Amino acid sequence: MTAADQTPVLEVDGLSLEFRTRSRVAEVLSAVSFDMRAGETLCLVGESGCGKSMTALAIMRLIPPLGRIGAGSVRLRGADLAAHDEAAMREVRGNKISMIFQEPMTALNPVYTVGDQIAEPLRLHQGLSKAQARERAIEMLKSVGIPLPERRVDDYPHQMSGGMRQRVMIAIALACDPDVLIADEPTTALDVTVQAQIFDLLREQQARRGTAVLLITHDMGAVSEMADRVVVMYGGRVVEQGGVREILAEPRHPYTRGLIACLPELDRQPTDIRPDLPEIPGVVPSVWERGAGCPFRDRCSQAMARCAEAFPPLTQVGAAHEVACWLYPEAAP
Ligand code: SF4
Repeated sequence: MTAADQTPVLEVDGLSLEFRTRSRVAEVLSAVSFDMRAGETLCLVGESGCGKSMTALAIMRLIPPLGRIGAGSVRLRGADLAAHDEAAMREVRGNKISMIFQEPMTALNPVYTVGDQIAEPLRLHQGLSKAQARERAIEMLKSVGIPLPERRVDDYPHQMSGGMRQRVMIAIALACDPDVLIADEPTTALDVTVQAQIFDLLREQQARRGTAVLLITHDMGAVSEMADRVVVMYGGRVVEQGGVREILAEPRHPYTRGLIACLPELDRQPTDIRPDLPEIPGVVPSVWERGAGCPFRDRCSQAMARCAEAFPPLTQVGAAHEVACWLYPEAAP
């Protein structure tokens, strides 16, 4: 890997997001930090409600009306996106940072052909003519494995299977060769065979283009298959992060261990440490119920008095492995 490869493409630093109503304020994201390099896959892991998708929306500055970014920064190739006005952000979205979602049918427009929808960002961001954009749309359909692309380019989304629609979404997202592709649970709505095909396609396209992929998932199987590095989120915070090998073989945070223990089918090496939580009882607290302290404490079998007092800082437990948990005494201030 060259020095250029090591330069982060995307840097999320201390990102906080609040939801405000007239009577109350909730911190949805608290000091979320991570970075991504070209060609790597970073998996953002956790159950629904842990802040993964909200992190993606905050990066894209597509936060809901109640939301307000309270602190922190998002840098794309060194440029602070907070300094971008809405017009500049529209240039970023779909061009420099693209997103694919769980259910392509809701993301695709049912009244336009798939060819028109692939052509749109090419015309908007790259100024291609209608004919050039159509030609490129056919190339993109071919590159994502759609058979007979010259014919399928004129199909409407409802004429395609779920797997084909997700391939079309990937074609739209990659049309402008983005620096970063955010894939939010991209295979959850698909059957297992098609899931594997979509992951293969993402890997192949990433290798070809050098795209940094932020894969949002609750599925540790997908993590073991796709990730270079892993960021585990709980309660709107990063609770553990590290290389995929460290996270899967030596998970430190009780929540990460619980996530891994919930997946008995996950392949492990004989030397791997086996997590001791067979399951994770309870549910993720809502953003209005978190309070002070570690947000996992009501579900944690190892919670102590201090866990209710303050959130533990991220502490280094390996070369590039950090955990936020009071079980690690070196975390004590
Ligand atoms: Fe459990 Fe406390 Fe660690 Fe939170 S800080 S995960 S409650 S031990």
